[in-house]
Amino acid sequence: YPPRRGIRGFVPPIRSNGGNTGNVTSRANATKGEDALDDSTKRCMDALCGPDGELPEKLRNLEPRLIEHISNEIMDGKPNVHWDDIAGLHHAKKCVTEMVIWPLLRPDIFEGCRSPGRGLLLFGPPGTGKTMIGKAIAGECNATFFYISASSLTSKWIGEGEKLVRALFGVASCRQPAVIFVDEIDSLLSQRKSDGEHESSRRLKTQFLIEMEGFDSGSEQILLIEARAWIVRNLLNKDGLFKLSTEDIDTICKLTDGYSGSDMKNLVKDASMGPLREALTQGTEITKLKKEDMRPVSLQDFENALQEVRPSVSLDELGTYEIWNNQFGSLS
Ligand code: ADP
Repeated sequence: YPPRRGIRGFVPPIRSNGGNTGNVTSRANATKGEDALDDSTKRCMDALCGPDGELPEKLRNLEPRLIEHISNEIMDGKPNVHWDDIAGLHHAKKCVTEMVIWPLLRPDIFEGCRSPGRGLLLFGPPGTGKTMIGKAIAGECNATFFYISASSLTSKWIGEGEKLVRALFGVASCRQPAVIFVDEIDSLLSQRKSDGEHESSRRLKTQFLIEMEGFDSGSEQILLIEARAWIVRNLLNKDGLFKLSTEDIDTICKLTDGYSGSDMKNLVKDASMGPLREALTQGTEITKLKKEDMRPVSLQDFENALQEVRPSVSLDELGTYEIWNNQFGSLS
């Protein structure tokens, strides 16, 4: 990024093949490099400059296009998930509150013996609320949320993952407090170093471990379990569609053993189509249909939906998580 003040050794970024591959050194007075950045990249860089108008040290040797990608695609300034949106997971929420939220809100209290771990491992089957917890932490602490899928680092950013990781942690350090959510981290860190391992993926792993230094010492494991009744009630309540009795909800819960939070969301979605489908098969045209004429969602709608929406995680797979949790996890 073009320096505004004279910095020795500044190398203006050079555009090649439409992309900017130049390094960021500092903002200052050179004008040549400024033309090489397009407006949106410039805006991202400006937003990261300190009150002195300088780009923070950590970002100066990073490629602008990577910083722009982090700012636009990976960073979520205001994640819209609240603690109360998350069903169940009481133990996980309690651990996260004590380990992450309180220390972020009151760093002065969490010093010495109480100093918090810097990393947290949430594990469990897909669709059980891990990402939601990450977003809610950011929301509760007014922190910036960064989401990156570890598998995209090796698939999409072939050979560049290491640089992107550096850019990610660099931008996050300028946006503190920050929550970095690394999805599918097992895909990255569990790979054993072997002769056949690609050099770039070895460097990527090393970079990750360097950036996460300190994270491993305080990591905790949390078991996520979902509360199905709450999800059904909460989702339908939001839309004012909820007219199910407690017995109906109990029946739905019994029928959905092994469904994850995201499976439940899909189930509710499908069931809530029931009244609409019925009204339309009775001859009402969609353009003339009045919302208030549709009946509430019934148990039968759920039973029909259960034929369509199957659990995405097998009971066998769930067993594996339980065994892992008993051995290494945080017991509730
Ligand atoms: P994960 O990160 O564990 O794969 P997500 O947090 O992305 O799962 O969940 C996917 C979707 O499923 C969420 O956006 C939400 O709608 C629903 N969901 C999953 N778990 C829960 C939960 N515990 N409470 C409420 N909704 C949930």
